[in-house]
Amino acid sequence: MLEDVRRFVARLAPEPACDDRIADRLGLPTSEQASHETRALAGSEGFERRKAACSLCGHERLVIRKA
Ligand SMILES: [Zn+2]
Repeated sequence: MLEDVRRFVARLAPEPACDDRIADRLGLPTSEQASHETRALAGSEGFERRKAACSLCGHERLVIRKA
């Protein structure tokens, strides 16, 4: 699961994605699941979590991206 999220966000880099869309695209049961994984990724290997416009839904919210 974490590996799927890592690959997905790395593929989008440097564009950010929100937990909702990550859950949606990866078929995760809930956005809480995606949120759990993105929190685990943040701070490592250039992954950062911050408030910004999501590149997938366009909403300003908490997103993750790989720099
Ligand atoms: Zn989004």
